[in-house]
Formats: sequence, C-alpha cells, structure tokens
Amino acid sequence: TIQVPDAAGKIIKQLNTHGFEAYAVGGCVRDSLLGRVPKDWDITTSAKPEQVKQIFARTVDTGILHGTVTVLMEHEAYEVTTYRIDGEYEDGRHPKSVEFTKNLLEDLKRRDFTINAMAYSERDGLVDAFGGAMDLNAGIIRCVGNPMDRFHEDALRILRAIRFSAQLGFRIEEETYKAIFAIAPNMEKVSKERIAVELTKLLLSDYPEQMKAVFESGIAPYVSEHFSTAERGLFELEKLKRLPSSKHVRWSGFLRFLDQKEAAGILKELKLDNDTMDQVRILTGLWKTEIPALKPEIRKVMSRIKTSLFEDLLNVQSVFLNGPYLDQLKTVRQFAGEIINDGDCIHLKDMAVTGRDLMEAGIKPGPKMGEILEALFDEVIKNPENNNREYLLNYSKDLPENMPGHG
Ligand code: ATP
Ligand code: MG
Repeated sequence: TIQVPDAAGKIIKQLNTHGFEAYAVGGCVRDSLLGRVPKDWDITTSAKPEQVKQIFARTVDTGILHGTVTVLMEHEAYEVTTYRIDGEYEDGRHPKSVEFTKNLLEDLKRRDFTINAMAYSERDGLVDAFGGAMDLNAGIIRCVGNPMDRFHEDALRILRAIRFSAQLGFRIEEETYKAIFAIAPNMEKVSKERIAVELTKLLLSDYPEQMKAVFESGIAPYVSEHFSTAERGLFELEKLKRLPSSKHVRWSGFLRFLDQKEAAGILKELKLDNDTMDQVRILTGLWKTEIPALKPEIRKVMSRIKTSLFEDLLNVQSVFLNGPYLDQLKTVRQFAGEIINDGDCIHLKDMAVTGRDLMEAGIKPGPKMGEILEALFDEVIKNPENNNREYLLNYSKDLPENMPGHG
C-alpha cells in the first residue's frame, strides 16, 4: 500500500548501499496507510549527518545539531534525520539536547503518537513497534509510552493530539486524554509560535469543531492570556468547515463573537502574522452588518476592502447569518459579480481623475484636495458611469469644497 516516491526510494537505497539503515518515517507512513497523499516524505537513518553529507552530492545543513540534513534529489528536497533520542524539550521547536543512536526502535520511541511512530522501506517493509497500524484502523490517537511522561517532556503534544484528532476524525484514547487534563498547565511553557501553528492546522482541518476539545480539556487558559474569551464562539463550530480552508477566514469564523480588538489581541498574543491579523480584524468587524442589495451600497463596502476579502466576507455571512438575509445575500453576491465584470470603479486608484489632474486644474495639494478627491470618489461609487475625466473635472468645479473661502 505504501508507494515511496522514486527520489526518496533512491535516497534510502543509496544509504543502504553504504551500509546504513534508512526508512520513510512519521507523517508520510501514516498518511499513506490512510490512503491520503503525504505532504512530504521524511527519512530516518542510522547514518550520522556528516556521513549523509558524504554520500549525497547536494545537501543543505538544515538542522545539523538535531541530526537533520536536507538532501536534494531529482529536484525534490527530503529531510534526512539521524536516529536520535531526545532530551527534554525546551521552548523552541527542538529538544534541548539530542543523542544519536544506532537503533531505529529508540528513534520511534521518542515520537509522539503510535500512528506517527511507524517506519517503512521497500527492503524491510513496515516497522510498527507500538501498534500504530492498529490504532490507525481503529481511529485512535494514543501516546507512545506513558502519556503523563510524554506530555511532561513536551506539552505541545497535548495540542498536537487534539489537532490530529481534528485532521483525521480520530478519538483520543482514554489514558492519553486523562493525561491531557493533568498536564494542561504545562502548555504555558510552550512557545506561542508552536501553539499558533497547531491551532491554525486545527481550524483548517476537516473537523474544526474539535476546537471544543481545547476548552473542554482545560488547556485554553494556558494557550494565551485572553484565549479563553474565545469560548463565546464555540457553538456552531461545525459550520467552520463550510468556509474556505484559508487561515484568516477560519480564524475569523472562530473569533466572530469577539470584537475586533479582542480578536486581533488574541492573534497578537499568538504571534500570528500581521496580514492575518488585519484581515481577521476587518472580517470580525464587518460580518454582522447586513449589506443592502443595492449596487451603490455594495460598491461602498467593496471600496473599503480588497476584492478577495469582500468575497471572504460574503462567505462568512452566508455560513453564520440566518433568515431572510440569506436570500438578500444571493442578490448581493450576484450584484458584486456584475460590479467586478463591468469594471466599476471601486478603488481610488481606478478613478478617472487623480490628484495630479486636480493640480493641473489649479488646485493646490493639501487637505482640500483630499476632500475633493473623496467627493469625486463618492460620486463614482454612486454613479459608476460618471467615472470619466471630463465629467469629474467639471463636477469638481461645482463642489462646495472647491468654492473660494471654503475650509
Ligand atoms: P503533518 O502532516 O502535519 O506534517 P507530521 O506527522 O508530519 O504531520 P510533523 O510535525 O511534520 O508532523 O512531524 C513529523 C514527525 O515527527 C511526526 O510524525 C512525529 O513522529 C514526530 N514529531 C513531531 N513533533 C513531535 C513532538 N512534539 N514530539 C514527538 N514527536 C514529534
Ligand atoms: Mg510533516
């Protein structure tokens, strides 16, 4: 059932030829067994990083200290990591110390869940020392070894358990779930960046309603200072999966009951990028406002945000608003499509008159010019057919802003 890509197979065989063990490992084995297409193929090997570098012509030192070398093969990049035993995890992405080992089982033992602790090669077949295949079939997330110890080593695994259960639609095994409760406060020590990665994957998954588990398991207070306030939006979370699988849209849907400041505040605590923060701020601010099915009104809303964000707004509204507005929304969507097709001016940069034109017509730059441009833009939003240079220049002459003595 497992089809290792040619290039990855070559890397494994070449390591074998030099007397080393090598396997595809972790997520790619899990996904293959599930019949899903793996995102990337990680390789684990008994060869030390220096030995890996000697065997392959093109390599990149990705994380030598942690045993990872990237091997470039047939225009693809593969992470090749030496079998290792992890020390205690620190705040960062990696354990404080690692020790290399010659024993595959020791490497598999350090991995978080049984379904993530399988290795495979064409030569040796599946190596499944912890019942990963059984748990895959049963749909169970279970720690490798003692869950209390494993979550103690790295509390991020708590959130990873919930994230994988959301991506795969699996349940969390009982002992593992109990340990989540017990070790929840340790989440406080985990870096916000790592937490944000897992929460985003959870929201983008097929079962985003699993966000509930973050609250039910008691870890929410330790995710970030104000994260618990997001509890207000916990109902109707199943609806999130009807939204496009994009980061800012799913976050907006989840945080929709917070005001703009609260929502952006949480994302800031989690150190999400500014782009996502800005878009979430806009969507959480706008989604409850019904848009009239009138083109000038629609153009007005469209003029305030990017076209793609306007589409996101309609998507959020159609998922989370109810009642007669849904019919109106269909008309709004249709009108918005026409506005775009007709090339109506909805952004200042598309107006037929610029500040430069006004200067040539004798208006000095300054606040007054700003007012005139605003007034012209208002006119064009109301009557797009008037977006032509001559008309607008004439129109500007009759504006009160342009009268002597004004301002
Ligand atoms: P994804 O499809 O999201 O990439 P993945 O299983 O590949 O899922 P990664 O975070 O890429 O997850 O990690 C690769 C492998 O490394 C995992 O399958 C697991 O075996 C191991 N691993 C990752 N993070 C941890 C951790 N915090 N503790 C223990 N093992 C981990
Ligand atoms: Mg991965």
